[in-house]
Amino acid sequence: MGTGWGSFKTLSKIDTSKYDVTVVSPRNHFLFTPLLASTTVGTLDFRSIIDPVRRKGQHHYYMARCIDVNTKDKTVTCEELGDFGETNTFTLPYNKLVIGVGCKANTFNIPGVEEYAYFLKELHDARKIRGRIIELFERASLPNRTVDEKRKLLHIVIVGGGPTGIEFGGELSDFFWRDLSRYFPDAPIHEVCITILEASNKILSAFDENLVKQAVRSIMKTGVHIRTDTLVKEVKPNAVVLSDGTEIPCGMVVWSTGNGPNTLMQALRFPKSRAAKILVDEHLRVQGEEDVYALGDCAEMEGQPLPATAQVAQAQGHYLASLLNGKTQNPFVFISVGIMAYIGRQKSIMDSKYFKGTGLLSWILWRSVYLTRLELVKNKCQVPFEWVRTFIWGRDVTTFGDQITKRYQKKYMTQKNPLENKPATEAPTQQTPSTQPAPTASTKEETPSQLTETTKEELKNN
Ligand SMILES: Cc1cc2nc3c(=O)[nH]c(=O)nc-3n(C[C@H](O)[C@H](O)[C@H](O)COP(=O)(O)OP(=O)(O)OC[C@H]3O[C@@H](n4cnc5c(N)ncnc54)[C@H](O)[C@@H]3O)c2cc1C
Repeated sequence: MGTGWGSFKTLSKIDTSKYDVTVVSPRNHFLFTPLLASTTVGTLDFRSIIDPVRRKGQHHYYMARCIDVNTKDKTVTCEELGDFGETNTFTLPYNKLVIGVGCKANTFNIPGVEEYAYFLKELHDARKIRGRIIELFERASLPNRTVDEKRKLLHIVIVGGGPTGIEFGGELSDFFWRDLSRYFPDAPIHEVCITILEASNKILSAFDENLVKQAVRSIMKTGVHIRTDTLVKEVKPNAVVLSDGTEIPCGMVVWSTGNGPNTLMQALRFPKSRAAKILVDEHLRVQGEEDVYALGDCAEMEGQPLPATAQVAQAQGHYLASLLNGKTQNPFVFISVGIMAYIGRQKSIMDSKYFKGTGLLSWILWRSVYLTRLELVKNKCQVPFEWVRTFIWGRDVTTFGDQITKRYQKKYMTQKNPLENKPATEAPTQQTPSTQPAPTASTKEETPSQLTETTKEELKNN
């Protein structure tokens, strides 16, 4: 179950002469998440960081979602959602079951997060974010925008000061300063603002404290504002509300505050940890079950919780394949090779037993490590090519306009044609050349309170 770091590694290493493998996942590719933030701004292309599951061959794949497991009958119930929300369910038998379904972003049930915030978990999230950033710059460049409106549109708030939030902030700041400032003279860079809000008293809490201090200094120099001890209590269509009632207007909120259990994890009746993860023993076997294994973000080894990282999930995937192939009977042991994150302006923070630092050298190591970790040769060639392309020509600033088009379609395709009911005998009126109305500063951008119910609904759907 799943095509993430854990399951995909098991799939790559499992001996298909011993097992008839079936993969079920709503995602038909593996996603190289450490480089996902780079795709939100176009440093890398979306397709350069994915690996199609069907290329692996020698297994069956079904694009569906598992919704239940029956360990007595040894079956998994799966569901496919049709065009109009109709469901198609089917059941698959198993001898051995590997659960690697990851987690979903934790919203802490904060009002407005699901509806108005952007997440950074999947490729479609990155695509949405990229479209939104460029849309904000286009909208801020309209001739009748006031400075105040520009500032609101060009303020991007990132909630969560973990590696994902920081990396996204770094990529975003590079994009603003290097590319958008060149192509959007009417959206001047001094009106642009990136703010990272962190609930605890420090960012990048998993890293060495001295390294974090250096990193914070570097990040501040890139123009990214960091506010620690700051709790968000609500997200509105164009603002975040803090626990002290302060409302921060912004054009986009990106939510990156860690993991919570997804619907399947909630539905499964296996023993769970306090973090609502499936409890497994040292062989990654689900507690009380003989042939069910769980790994990665959705699992926790009792008494030794590990960080929710790709490194752990991949190591577990590798181990599980060896265990199932009969190559090992030893318990799983995790040996960390270190942690790292990009912080912007060709600098990274790296904390490993071999090297500790923040700066250019860490950044070169960061890139080299991830390049070697890409599995597909095509991606190994494409990614460095795109790094060079971005370095020389900068990032692309066009948008496919999916979200904007949807809004226009909704407005104009539902509007009645005013000529429809006119009598056919009516003489056509003389067309006068249309004159472009002079831009006035009186056209105000919609404020959240002015948004109609339809617009709110639209924002939700988008
Ligand atoms: C933007 C970002 C950057 C990151 N950077 C790093 C990094 O630099 N280093 C690092 O170590 N970690 C990083 N991580 C964390 C890392 O990606 C996760 O820890 C890792 O993906 C966990 O792997 P997994 O196999 O448990 O789950 P995932 O990789 O999340 O995969 C879960 C899979 O399960 C599928 N699935 C979900 N529900 C169902 C269902 N009901 N039925 C069937 N399939 C289902 C999903 O479609 C997906 O294929 C990053 C994460 C993000 C989001």
